[in-house]
Amino acid sequence: SNSLFSIENLTISFENEKKKIIAVNDVSFDIGKSEIVGLVGESGCGKTVTSLGIIGLLPNSANINSGKIHYNGKDILNIKEDEKRKIRGKEISMIFQEPMTSLNPLWKCGNQIGEAIKLHNKIDKKDLKSRVLKIIKNVGLPNPETIYSKYPHELSGGQRQRVMIGIAIANHPDLIIADEPTTALDVTIQSQILELLKKINEEEKSSILFISHDLGVINDIADRVIVMYAGFIVEIASRGDLYSEPKHPYTLKLLQSIPLPEKKGKELESIPGIVPRIESHIDYCPFVDRCSIAKEICREKLPLLEEKSDKHFARCHLT
Ligand code: SF4
Repeated sequence: SNSLFSIENLTISFENEKKKIIAVNDVSFDIGKSEIVGLVGESGCGKTVTSLGIIGLLPNSANINSGKIHYNGKDILNIKEDEKRKIRGKEISMIFQEPMTSLNPLWKCGNQIGEAIKLHNKIDKKDLKSRVLKIIKNVGLPNPETIYSKYPHELSGGQRQRVMIGIAIANHPDLIIADEPTTALDVTIQSQILELLKKINEEEKSSILFISHDLGVINDIADRVIVMYAGFIVEIASRGDLYSEPKHPYTLKLLQSIPLPEKKGKELESIPGIVPRIESHIDYCPFVDRCSIAKEICREKLPLLEEKSDKHFARCHLT
């Protein structure tokens, strides 16, 4: 198959003396070669925890209860930490929402990109600098020589995010995980960054796992979309199918909460109710308390993720 990453039955929980929360619940999906997969859901749905599992950066408080992540003939979920380090930043890299907290404030931007290269390659100083300048140019920053010598605080938010993207692509990764990379930016800059990620996807052939709470943003970039709710995948479909024919009531609500240009400035319509915290195995639909079409069966059985039409999966008894 042309799948590059294959996540199988991943379950991750957090536990302290008082309570346990299953943050990621039996999650399985593939990421194809140079595919852009959108992972969407409200905060606390498990999308970020899933991505941290893939890149091997789960906090110590996380327990991986089960699962495998196949990549390059290995199960990268269950390899040693030093092997994970070799993959991280080289084969898989990550872009975060707020570059200010992930960039080193005391280092010039050029040196930060250079460091990312040096970490995984032996390269002499002259070659390193010309490679960094090329990357700065590739991420659409003007005057590479000038940007090279700037500190993060001397750049705008959008420029900093471009530097972060430069670090992420420094070693031509197979997969870039982008966690809400445009959420902190204003709308114009947001669409420029999305264009840049699409360009990188085309030129570098890197796959992208794009994480967002906003189906509007996902619609601008993803080939395929995965919707998560309370740790479960509730829907998987190609972008076209998901937007034209959502098959899970939660996806439908998310679509209705996309900000429309004419509603700009007004409060977004939100989905009433809160995301439940799942503590153990459940025998009901996790969305039942917020679902407007729920029936008795929804309280009696956990729906399975089923193929409802060609390559379109949903976890719902009634659709
Ligand atoms: Fe709603 Fe029932 Fe479908 Fe859950 S299974 S989403 S409660 S209709």
